Amino acid sequence: MHSDSDNVIRAKTRAQGLRIKRNNLVAALLSGLTLVFTSVEFVAPSRAGFLFGLLVGFVYANGFEYCLHRFLLHCGKGVFSQQHMVHHTTLKSPDSARYVNFSSNPWGVVALFCANALPFLVLERIFKNGWVAGAFVSFALYYIAFEEIHWRTHMADGCLRGSRPQQGITCDTTLTIRVISMCSCQCSIGLYGKYRARPAHSRPARTTLILS
Ligand SMILES: [Zn+2]
Ligand SMILES: [Zn+2]
Repeated sequence: MHSDSDNVIRAKTRAQGLRIKRNNLVAALLSGLTLVFTSVEFVAPSRAGFLFGLLVGFVYANGFEYCLHRFLLHCGKGVFSQQHMVHHTTLKSPDSARYVNFSSNPWGVVALFCANALPFLVLERIFKNGWVAGAFVSFALYYIAFEEIHWRTHMADGCLRGSRPQQGITCDTTLTIRVISMCSCQCSIGLYGKYRARPAHSRPARTTLILS
């Protein structure tokens, strides 16, 4: 049972979280479009190159998410890890929705896109490869799907089955989601094995990597 004041906080932070998510998604869309147009200005992609870029972008985004979560967010040091631990440790609290989104500010999303895009643009400039636009499309779609699925995973907004609303527990998401590795926080499963993450404070030693 939740108290009335808990429910008030829950509703308020949920509305705040939804606003942040919307802003992040708009920032991702605009960043992705800007990058696609920039890369097309450098080199116009062929159809095959664009399709290849979609594949490259997906593999890259999936690997980036995995490495970010495993090696940076759960390393137990630094501001990013500390902020991520707030997300994990508040999952059962009434204000958990404040800490679910990737960034509390859309400029964090813009920075994420710029940092990831820079090497691709440099490579495109040097080698004149025509697949970078496709990679940016894939990266943007991956981020948008990640943010939305991550929210629904924790906040149980229409989890497709096995919802456990507001308990701060990862709901039993679909096989599709598990296979393509977008429910990253409790477990990141993808092209790089299965990584089950736990908050740093609950594990004195190493994280657990399950390769299966
Ligand atoms: Zn985590
Ligand atoms: Zn999470």
